[in-house]
Amino acid sequence: MPFKFDVHDRSVYREPAPIDQDSPFQSMMERFDIAAEILELNPGFYEYLCRPARVFMTSVPVVMDTGHVKVFDGIRVIHNNVLGPSKGGIRYAPDVTLSEVKALAAWMTWKCAVVDVPFGGAKGGVVCNPSEMSPGELERLTRRYTSDMFNVFGPDRDIPAPDMNTNEQIMAWILDTYSMHSRRTENAVVTGKPVALGGSEGRHEATGRGVMTVTLAALEQIDRSPSDCTVAVQGFGNVGSVAAQLLQEQGCTVVAVSDVTGGYYNADGLDIPAVQQYVKENGGSLEDYTEATHITNEELLTLDVDVLVPAAKEDQITKSIAEDMQARVVVEGANGPTVPAADDILNEKGVLVVPDILANAGGVTVSYFEWVQDRQGYFWSLKRVNKRLKRTMTDAFNRVYETAEKHDTSLRIGAYVVGVSKVAEALRLRGIYA
Ligand code: GLU
Repeated sequence: MPFKFDVHDRSVYREPAPIDQDSPFQSMMERFDIAAEILELNPGFYEYLCRPARVFMTSVPVVMDTGHVKVFDGIRVIHNNVLGPSKGGIRYAPDVTLSEVKALAAWMTWKCAVVDVPFGGAKGGVVCNPSEMSPGELERLTRRYTSDMFNVFGPDRDIPAPDMNTNEQIMAWILDTYSMHSRRTENAVVTGKPVALGGSEGRHEATGRGVMTVTLAALEQIDRSPSDCTVAVQGFGNVGSVAAQLLQEQGCTVVAVSDVTGGYYNADGLDIPAVQQYVKENGGSLEDYTEATHITNEELLTLDVDVLVPAAKEDQITKSIAEDMQARVVVEGANGPTVPAADDILNEKGVLVVPDILANAGGVTVSYFEWVQDRQGYFWSLKRVNKRLKRTMTDAFNRVYETAEKHDTSLRIGAYVVGVSKVAEALRLRGIYA
């Protein structure tokens, strides 16, 4: 069928959402404000650090399998590069907005500072629905987006990585496209790539492994042993499924997991490797999993469990979910899963919340290890990667815990204080270039 373009059909071009219209950026700012007040942050630094350093937007044309050209909105936000080259994943999603990417980029800045990784923060997004695209369409989209961002990305400038709906294969296409343009193989331009292309052992599991490490540290603080604990995990992607598996290996009973098709509960504990196998054979979905009772997302978040791991997306723990929540410990595998209004409720209830910028920092930590290995051309064993990851996460947890105690505040604000103070100090030392 020949493709006809109706010049009067303005719906083909949607204005990207205006900056700050929706909540993730607000959510980041509300916590940043509290930390800035505790730190008595220089007002000029405050003004600089609460906005992104640079924002890039591109219209990405792709020849679809039908032969028609479709145009996608591509975004890359560099929040800050005071500590080093900016670092952060790229998200492919139909509802990704500039405001969301701005928030995610800022969270990367604080996250890298919390785990003492010498990177600034960035994030990318492409407004698309990868589940409706063929591998060829996704490859062409990725290559064109990378080509558009050629002057932004770079091993010493801005280093992308996977995020929601992007994976090792997409990172391989970014590596190849960037390398073709620069006429040499630049494997340090991207992390989270396949091991065969200079990826790191242990990177794929790193975020989930970091979640496991800080969960054990949090349980130790409240004198609980993992073998006496029940766990519910929201989200069964790279972060949630690995966290569930590793927590089970540590002796926890994982009673519930979920994905977009809802929650799956078994009071006796789910067999996580069996669930992973089911998902693999079921086209990536938990749908119709029979060894569990089907529950709603809300029911999962308010289950009577010891540990809740939200590992899906932003704004899941709302005020009303927080009111009904029964978990004793929350470990944020996702970025921004808790809305600010829920923080006070959880604090009042005595729920120990290990915040996103600490809890899910294992991913960017091993991304840093990957970048170091690429630049050295010398690759570490899985044992070495995991040992260093454990040390980094444990040190960061202790630093955040002590800071929170010192300022008599939550771990979340403690983490922001650690992150913001580190970036502000680097900014003070570098000075403002005129
Ligand atoms: N997208 C991941 C995150 O949100 C990883 C980022 C990276 O490794 O650069 O932390």
